[in-house]
Amino acid sequence: MDRDQIQEHLRFAQELGVSGMSRDPAWRVREGEATSDPLRVFGSPADALAAVRTDIGDCTRCKLHRLGRHQIVFGVGHPEADLMFVGEAPGRDEDIQGIPFVGRAGQLLTKIIEAIGLTREEVYIANVIKCRPPENRNPEQDEVETCEPFLFRQIDVIKPKVIVALGTFAARTLLRTLDPISRLRGRVYDYRGAKLIPTFHPAYLLRNPASKREVWEDMKRVRALLQS
Ligand code: URA
Repeated sequence: MDRDQIQEHLRFAQELGVSGMSRDPAWRVREGEATSDPLRVFGSPADALAAVRTDIGDCTRCKLHRLGRHQIVFGVGHPEADLMFVGEAPGRDEDIQGIPFVGRAGQLLTKIIEAIGLTREEVYIANVIKCRPPENRNPEQDEVETCEPFLFRQIDVIKPKVIVALGTFAARTLLRTLDPISRLRGRVYDYRGAKLIPTFHPAYLLRNPASKREVWEDMKRVRALLQS
């Protein structure tokens, strides 16, 4: 290809709406397409998830990057999981290890997962916010707005049958409501092609063990939906 041909090729690419050029498969889509059907572009969910992680990079999009976070906690589990858990934000242990739900609340979540006959490796676990807020404070609105698109992309790649929103914060963010978890739980919601079940956060269960009974009711519903 000579110089004129390359320029003609680039002009054509520009007319198609392609910006930039790369050997990355994502280059072959128009802007906006990658999020609507990531699998068409990346082939496998694992590759598509890796691309989301690459896009996050060493993120400095919100103030949390300069408020003491050690690393981004992206998510763990099966890239094609039928069941996905969404929590609030990494805590101290998660920030150190780079893995969601590994502290005390995480150990309880692992038990909950195992109680319905699954393992952590078979499900996917992520948070609304990928960086630890200082002193484990609640994430702020601007932090949620900046970070939630990455969670939505994870959900669109994994395409779980069932999503469990852990606690008020995750349930409110996903369902776009201000209702408390006590009002939201007990029902099944349609959400991004999945069934969404809000339940109490494992950290809340550590403080209020009596609520484990309600969580078990929710998890039985999860199991039934997975089998249906
Ligand atoms: N709490 C959460 O919401 N997420 C974690 O990863 C750990 C604790």
